[in-house]
Amino acid sequence: EKMKITETIFQDGTHKWVAIVRDPDKPNFLVDTNEYLVTHGGQGMLLDPGGAEIFPAVFSALSSEFDPSALAAVFASHQDPDICSSLALWLEFNPKMRCYVSWLWNSFIPHFGGTAETFISIPDEGMDINLAGLTLRTVPAHYLHSSGNFNLYDKVAKILFSGDVGAALLPADQNGLFVEDFDKHIRHAEGFHRRWMGSNEAKRRWCERVSQLEIDMLCPQHGAIYRGADVQRFISWFDDLQVGIVKG
Ligand code: FE
Repeated sequence: EKMKITETIFQDGTHKWVAIVRDPDKPNFLVDTNEYLVTHGGQGMLLDPGGAEIFPAVFSALSSEFDPSALAAVFASHQDPDICSSLALWLEFNPKMRCYVSWLWNSFIPHFGGTAETFISIPDEGMDINLAGLTLRTVPAHYLHSSGNFNLYDKVAKILFSGDVGAALLPADQNGLFVEDFDKHIRHAEGFHRRWMGSNEAKRRWCERVSQLEIDMLCPQHGAIYRGADVQRFISWFDDLQVGIVKG
């Protein structure tokens, strides 16, 4: 039985955030990913829908919460295969589904599927996405790690989906949904951020930008969710880290 765990991390009426995490059957050679479903007024948007290889696990988990044919859109933080190589498979359930992605990738992502109508390009400065009356803001996170890269902010839920920012590659015995011990957790994030993140200047600007947002939960695409004081703790830690470094 291929099934990921779903956990509702925010709910107010039809407005929900559901984390789809921790695939028990996923082979170890695939990096573990978190997908997030945002629903509002009967519409849904899936954030970083994941790789083609794990589609059955994400699909069955999502179906337990929401009708997949009512997915209005997917949001792709960037172009990587673990982010959106499942695109064509989702489109089979709703061919009218849209894919929001940086303008930089709007002729590359179609290699994963879709038609000219599928893609909505996000300009570098970001844009608002309307989900049945709920406004979701795409927040620039360029070069962190991809050169055309966005986070997604929900100011009502006070949740920032941060893509690869905040990602941690956790050992099997430390796989809780939330960060519990920041110092212990962040060791599993450090190497990843140093090597994958491309620009100290872009990182400094991201830290300034998101410090101005009210964030209760910072939700990355790999690893655990930062909440409460750990959100600012993460931003400060990241601000101090030197990135864009290859050893040797
Ligand atoms: Fe990536």
